Amino acid sequence: MSRFKDQVAVITGASNGIGAASAIALAREGFQVALGARNTEKLADVAQAIEAESGVKPFMMELDVRKEADVKAFVSAVAEKFGRIDVLLNNAGLAKGVTPVIEEEDAENWDQMIDTNVKGLLLMTRETVPHMIKGGNGHVINLGSIAGREAYAGGAVYCATKFAVRAITDALRQELLGQPVRVTTVDPGLVNTGFSVVRLGDQEKADAVYAGLTPLVAEDIADCVVFAATRPKHVNIDAIIVKPTDQAGAGKVARR
Ligand code: NAP
Repeated sequence: MSRFKDQVAVITGASNGIGAASAIALAREGFQVALGARNTEKLADVAQAIEAESGVKPFMMELDVRKEADVKAFVSAVAEKFGRIDVLLNNAGLAKGVTPVIEEEDAENWDQMIDTNVKGLLLMTRETVPHMIKGGNGHVINLGSIAGREAYAGGAVYCATKFAVRAITDALRQELLGQPVRVTTVDPGLVNTGFSVVRLGDQEKADAVYAGLTPLVAEDIADCVVFAATRPKHVNIDAIIVKPTDQAGAGKVARR
């Protein structure tokens, strides 16, 4: 019997990519999982895959992390269903475009990145952590990026949001010092998910990002999430930076 069977993990952006793979991996470890994202059809597919494997039906609910009312309703529903929240994987996030600042015509792209990657993560954290403190156990795992450690041309706003994730992670760890809540950031390089299609707008352009190299896959990041989440309670993994062997930094890749 898993030692995590009574623990509840909330995963944002669980409908695709890293969020979906992490939800499946955490469920495999025995966690009860609560899945949120905007696309409920894809969420239902992920929930079904988890149920088929574990026999346990995950909680799922439509969630736009940019909307405060959605976040409050989602977290209340999870707390009501399970009576506790132990892990929050703040994974929902995106990049829109690789446009230099002075050439960006659509400032809505900036709004979407900032509202999702920063404000959404803050809202989810604010609503969830009090349940962790009340339950005497908690872990906030943020999906950062190497873009939060190294800026690049065309990535000003996306990088700014991920620098912000790192700042929030570090500040939160200090704010929660003395509480039974751990705080981790997992910072990947290139992972082949839906990320580049969302960022660049079509599959062909997305495929070119990974052409000639072996990128990470979502399951590689799920491994990191599970590693952090399954350490003993007294062990806080502050940060995991993980890149493909074919990548040495943002824009520094080996293609064959
Ligand atoms: P993905 O396949 O595009 O998945 C992104 C997920 O975020 C989707 O499930 C999407 O679901 C969800 N999402 C987007 N906006 C949302 C919103 N407003 N509310 C709720 N959910 C929302 O990309 P991914 O690579 O798995 O990205 C996951 C995280 O990893 C992101 O934070 C990203 O910045 C980070 N990351 C990715 C890479 C990479 O190379 N792929 C590298 C470093 C870091 P819906 O559309 O259904 O809402």
